[in-house]
Amino acid sequence: MVRINVLDHQTIDKIAAGEVVEKPASVVKELVENAIDAGASAVTVEIKDGGILLIRVTDNGSGIEKTQVENAFLRHATSKITSADDLTNLVSLGFRGEALASIAAVSRVELLSKTPEELTGVRYVIEGGVKKEMEEIGAPTGTTILVRNLFYNTPPRRKFLKQPQTEGSYVADLMEHLAMSNPGVSFKFIVNGQNRFYTTGNDDLKEIIYRIYGKEIAGELIPFREECDGFLVKGLLGKPVINRSNRNYEIFYINGRYIRSTLISKAVEEGYREYLMQHKFPFCVLHFQIDTSRIDVNVHPTKMEVRIADAPAFYEAVKQAIHDALHVQEMIPNVVLTEDKKEQKPVYQSVPEPFEQRRREQTAMPVRSAAIQQIYQKSSVRPQENMLREPALYAAHTHKAAETSDGAEPEAPGVGKPEQLELFDDRLLSASAKEQYEILGQLFETYWLIAYQDKLLIVDQHAAHEKVKFERFMKRFKEHDIVSQTLNPPIVVTLNGREKECYQNHEKDFEALGFAIEEFGGNDYAIRGVPMDLYGYEEGAFFYEILDELVDEAVTGTPESIRIRIATMACKAAVKGNTRMSREEMKKLIDELLTLDNPYNCPHGRPTIISMSKYEIEKKFKRIVT
Ligand code: ADP
Ligand code: MG
Repeated sequence: MVRINVLDHQTIDKIAAGEVVEKPASVVKELVENAIDAGASAVTVEIKDGGILLIRVTDNGSGIEKTQVENAFLRHATSKITSADDLTNLVSLGFRGEALASIAAVSRVELLSKTPEELTGVRYVIEGGVKKEMEEIGAPTGTTILVRNLFYNTPPRRKFLKQPQTEGSYVADLMEHLAMSNPGVSFKFIVNGQNRFYTTGNDDLKEIIYRIYGKEIAGELIPFREECDGFLVKGLLGKPVINRSNRNYEIFYINGRYIRSTLISKAVEEGYREYLMQHKFPFCVLHFQIDTSRIDVNVHPTKMEVRIADAPAFYEAVKQAIHDALHVQEMIPNVVLTEDKKEQKPVYQSVPEPFEQRRREQTAMPVRSAAIQQIYQKSSVRPQENMLREPALYAAHTHKAAETSDGAEPEAPGVGKPEQLELFDDRLLSASAKEQYEILGQLFETYWLIAYQDKLLIVDQHAAHEKVKFERFMKRFKEHDIVSQTLNPPIVVTLNGREKECYQNHEKDFEALGFAIEEFGGNDYAIRGVPMDLYGYEEGAFFYEILDELVDEAVTGTPESIRIRIATMACKAAVKGNTRMSREEMKKLIDELLTLDNPYNCPHGRPTIISMSKYEIEKKFKRIVT
């Protein structure tokens, strides 16, 4: 006889835990969200061995009352909703009342907490879902949760974990995203005893980016804001000089939650299109506020899917807004000649939180100075004050003391200060600009040196030429004024099934580009005409190049956008190699370049012009000492 067993609670919990707790990063996510829900203005997260050995989350939020502590660890225990009426919120905000229960089922958890009303706090230990200890302790207001030995009692799950370093990188990603989605909360993130980043919680997204990604990136951001029918988006766009090689720096939030969305990525990338080289992606942090009636959110503890109503209109609006925002900017990368010491990300010395101190004391770890202890033990210090004073603590106990004697967080250099670029008053394309530049000559047969106001501009003639040609080509293309050049004899190409289908779908587009192609029987096609201006390009290869790209990439969009894509590719072919050029030719090209809307980037996103300021040059010659 087959016996059907009813599983005991601990087994059920262990199984259920798999839904919420997949890896250390999912534990951190739940715990930090709880801290924020509890109104914390400061949250510290520490991990050891990628979070597998230890995760500690300390907050200065509302704390959990002694009598409620055990309840908090029961499955479906939540203080955030009381009935099924709140179920919509439950789903959309991810309140399921099972995070603590799930985490405790698969690790050793120690919780320390105190509410503002209570005089003493509580320490609760629960391992594998079984209560081990509960005692009253002295503690400041807030909550600390320590999660040790994740999956110690579920070896198969543990085996699925990646190397500590990889798991740690997932936690780091998450922490960065959480910090950027909660600019009003001060975050501290510690990995294996070392501070990774610290944010002040002063609501300044740019400063957070500075602290996470460093000065180089923070100095190249454009504020962005767009309000459209049904949604608002604001954030920061990275200038093309900081474009990345993957999509990890396209950071999007919808209504405060970090999400990944192919639709938004595509829209943003299209907006950036002319500034993006192939296989490059923008840096951007964008917060979308979308009317809840217009989104369909499917929350799973480990991922989140969002569907947006009226997607095509949304896509167009985002794309256009980004395009416009980039266009009004001066995009000439500024070259810094001096070997600036590589700007260090701010590094702070670890100052343990009170609970952590206690833990360290108990395990005979080094004791911190009496001064820190004093400040923390003043129970009259309210949470916010408590955390606001933290920077002062850093200052007093690190070498940075002198710079921060007023107790303020050391100012983030480069943040909010005008970069050289912004010193440009006139745009290059202003009417007066033409009279102001002077061509000094050609360098390496490739670059032009141009004096312009207090700048030395260096133009890549290849890129500039390409840009001008592209614009000419696009203009003719849009005006249906493409000129074709006859090939005699024709070139015969053989297409495979996919290529043939693809060609047939885009027959009209090839025609619009200036191709004259006829069926030649079977899978053969005869190319009798090609677009004009294909300097130095083998006509058959050019046809294949366009076709390959069409086959490879599922090119989507309106017929018009597809045609423009193809024209972009076509233009790639219409570029001359490097050549020696006369001053007259240079002048003609520069003048034409300067009439363009965006003269600063070639169609593939490479810069056409870089600049070097007089200041930088004088600095290099040590005429200016700074
Ligand atoms: P949920 O967050 O869905 O309510 P959890 O299992 O994550 O479920 O938490 C259970 C309850 O424990 C919460 O509803 C809250 O009352 C309490 N809690 C958890 N973490 C904290 C915290 N850091 N500060 C204050 N209360 C907390
Ligand atoms: Mg929760």
